Amino acid sequence: MAFKATILTIFPEIFPGFLGTSLTGKALNEGLWECETVNIRDYAFDKHGSVDDTPCGGGAGMIMRPDVLGNAIEHNYSSGRIIYMSPKGKPLTQAKVRELSRENDLTIICGRFEGIDERVIEEYGIEEISIGDYILTGGEQAAMIMLDAIVRLLPGVLGNSASTENESFEGNLLEYPQYTRPIEWKGRKVPEILMSGHHENVAKWQKEQALQITKERRPDLLEKTLDSE
Ligand code: SAH
Repeated sequence: MAFKATILTIFPEIFPGFLGTSLTGKALNEGLWECETVNIRDYAFDKHGSVDDTPCGGGAGMIMRPDVLGNAIEHNYSSGRIIYMSPKGKPLTQAKVRELSRENDLTIICGRFEGIDERVIEEYGIEEISIGDYILTGGEQAAMIMLDAIVRLLPGVLGNSASTENESFEGNLLEYPQYTRPIEWKGRKVPEILMSGHHENVAKWQKEQALQITKERRPDLLEKTLDSE
């Protein structure tokens, strides 16, 4: 069964956006995944399509109402996990992306304003996911990034499935440096070992490089690797 994302948003026109181009767009056209948008405003209870109100207890901005969002969820949810894109969520990692790529249905809520009423999260057992420690204007951008990462792992999307195996974060390591032709450019040569044709030595060099780069740039990842060994 193909992967289906049902996206609840007040800006449905944003989708599929960049997901409609390149590999993800080709996969969308080929039916390897499906992207359905639901306009939360269509589930408002007044003729203006109001979806937000002022925060209880005061404070800046507006909050998305639980009754309207709940109405949108209940009319469109079929099965699977419900995710709310949120800076308070668990950080999105490649392991999480892999896990989500094995699902058939994902319902994704995109927040706007100052976010959504907490009771919605409790009522529907919603999982919160963050794409990083910074604040965006809306969950749509975050949802698109998460979907891009998920879709490229779906069967048939990348030509060669082996090509995701040595990438950064697989095995908690950053990727080793990569080179292509020309062999010499601006006086800089491709490391000789890569031209040796000796697969074992090449693999050893790449592993060493990956370890070195991870040690320098992301020692936090390396600790995870050593823990799991
Ligand atoms: N007041 C909130 C931020 C609201 S930003 C807070 O301090 O936590 C508006 C919306 O953008 C959020 O509802 C969420 O859906 C989305 N968003 C912002 N930053 C995000 C991030 N890092 N990851 C995922 N979604 C994010």
